[in-house]
This record gives sequence, structure tokens and C-alpha cells, in this order.
Amino acid sequence: MMVWRLLRPDAKKVWDDDSVVKTLLKRYWDIINEKTTAKYLITKRIDAKVELNEDLPKLWNAHERIRKSFKNMIQRIDSGELEYDSLDNPKVSYLELKVELAQRMLEECIFCERRCRVNRREGEKGTWCKLDERARISSAFLHHGEEAPLVPSGTIFFTSCNFCCVFCQNYDISQVYPENGVEISPEKLASISRNLRREGARNINYVGGEPTPNLHVIIESLQYSDINVTQLWNSNLYCSEETMKLLDIMDVWLPDLKYYSDECAKEFSIVPNYWAVVSRNLKMAYDYGGLDHGEIIIRHLVMPNHVDCCTLPILEWIAENCPKSLVNIMAQYRPTHLVGSNKKYSSINRRPTSAEMDKAYKYADELGITWKPVS
Ligand code: SF4
Repeated sequence: MMVWRLLRPDAKKVWDDDSVVKTLLKRYWDIINEKTTAKYLITKRIDAKVELNEDLPKLWNAHERIRKSFKNMIQRIDSGELEYDSLDNPKVSYLELKVELAQRMLEECIFCERRCRVNRREGEKGTWCKLDERARISSAFLHHGEEAPLVPSGTIFFTSCNFCCVFCQNYDISQVYPENGVEISPEKLASISRNLRREGARNINYVGGEPTPNLHVIIESLQYSDINVTQLWNSNLYCSEETMKLLDIMDVWLPDLKYYSDECAKEFSIVPNYWAVVSRNLKMAYDYGGLDHGEIIIRHLVMPNHVDCCTLPILEWIAENCPKSLVNIMAQYRPTHLVGSNKKYSSINRRPTSAEMDKAYKYADELGITWKPVS
């Protein structure tokens, strides 16, 4: 296991007793300290009360029935009212139901709001992600560069993405060569997670590219896993509502919230209806959890010339709708990929200025947003 003295100083300090992070990510901290149980382990002990060969509406009905009471069950386990070890292994579990639903969705893929409806099980490829049913990863390692509370993070990078950001820093794995990387089975993915945990990972961090097109493999891998470790969804959150329902299994969320303006989203990530989709999903994630709120670290990348149209309204929206989220206000934007070579993108062909960053930080402070421990 990773020892404290080897950690980045802020990754240790962020867990001081008076830290707001300890309150906002309480369940995550309790999982690290074996005081409570990761959600995916709980889903293995919930009786789905349905046969897996039923038709799709019946399977979704069974899923919805459980999903609506799942939060309450987590709270009972967290409080000690219900003992996890006293729960039996059911004939068909909530987790197995999710695996089946993901496989059915793959036949007419609606994992994300691109809704390509191709049959990936039959070898068809997604229009945007360019993936059939096989998942590939480009790397998996203990990441020490993530937000302080997440370090060290057992990060698994999937290839491919459903976005086409013109400034993507990982375009080599997400857009240009989505078929790079090593094909990965659910069993192998579970084994990688186990090893990362053994090396000291505080969480298993599914990222890319984008993890969403690989939903079926990620969920199935959890059937082969029994380690009590936080599951972290690190995503652009442009997934479908159905995918969000299957993902109530995640303990911590690390979503991007890039644009407030749909025009900006269309211009720079070639994605329609961005705000409605991502804000809907973020509200769902905020409603999940054992606490009165989901445990979320929102990443907002401040882009040059986009503080007024995107950054400030996004911060306002967060303060109003997800006030107990942590927010990483990111200054890391730099022009890359297509930006420097295409005059069309000249408005974002520079780094954000310190005046732009200060404006964002100051407004976040005015709104009472917690950003300093993760930015
Ligand atoms: S994951 Fe999204 S982009 Fe890929 S096939 Fe499915 S709906 Fe299309």
C-alpha cells in the first residue's frame, strides 16, 4: 500500500480534519478507510427479482424499481443499520441486471447522446467513437497528477472518444488512432484494477479518450472484482440517460463541464445539444450517493475569450444546482491539435490570461464555490 510520506504534500493535507473535502467526499474517505462499502459491491447483494431473458421493458422496470431505493439502502449500510456481510448473494443481482442491460444497449448503441443505434455486438462501429464491441486501453497506472483528494489514482485510459474537441491534448488516443492500445476483456480489466489497488490506488479511475463507449466492459469487469475500492467516472458526461441510470454504481464523479453555450460546444467539440445533456446528467449524479448529494469534482477548463459566455454562467449554475460539488477551475488550456494550424480557431489560439483566470476565481469565491483544494 502507498504510504503517506510518499504522497504529494497537498494530497495528504487535503484530508486534514478541518478540511471541507473530508465533508464533501465523506463516503469516498470512508471507503478508503474501510468504514463503508463501495457501491458496486452492494449491487452484487441486491436481488433483481427478474430473469435475464425477459424482454427489455421488464428488465428496465426491474432496474428502475431498485434504482429508486438504492440510495436508501446505501444510507442504511453506511449508518450500520444494515450489515453488508449479512446480505446474501441473490440468484440474479442488480449488477448482473446492469451487465445484461448494457449488452442489450450495445445491439443498438445508445451509450451516449450521439445515439448511433448501430449493432456493435455484430461488429458495426459507432459513427463517432468508431468502436465495435471491443474495448481498448492505452495505459493504466498510478496517477499522481490528478486532483489532490484522488492521488494516487488508479487511472485506466481507454482509447477513442465520442467528442471531436479541436484542442484535444490526448487526440492521439481519442481521435486520430482510436484503435491503438490493447484490447481488454472484462476479466483482464478486473485484474488491472486489483493490481492498481494493491499498489495503493485510492480509486479506480475510468478515463480516456472517453469511458462511455466502453460501458459494457467496465460494468462487466466488476463481476470479476471483489475489492473494496472507490469507482470513479472521469468523463465528458455526454452519456445517455439510460447510461446514467446504469452508472448509479459509481462512487465518485469527475465530469468535465466545458461549455455553457451550445454554439461553443458545436464549434469546438462538434457536439449538439451539449448543455441540456450534460446538465441533466450532472443533476442525476448529484442526486446519487449515500450522502444527501453525490460526490463530485467538476472540472471546468477555462478557455481564452470564453469566460463571459461559458465560465461565469457555468459557475452560477453549479452554485445553484450542485452546491456541494468541488470544482477544479483549470488553467491548463493550451492551443493544440487543430487550433494552431486552422485560422478558424484563432479566438482560442492562446492560453487564458491571468486576468481571465482571476475573474473566474473571484466569481467562484463570490458564489461560495469550493475550488481551492482541487484546483
Ligand atoms: S458510444 Fe456513442 S458514439 Fe459510440 S456507438 Fe454508442 S452512441 Fe455512437
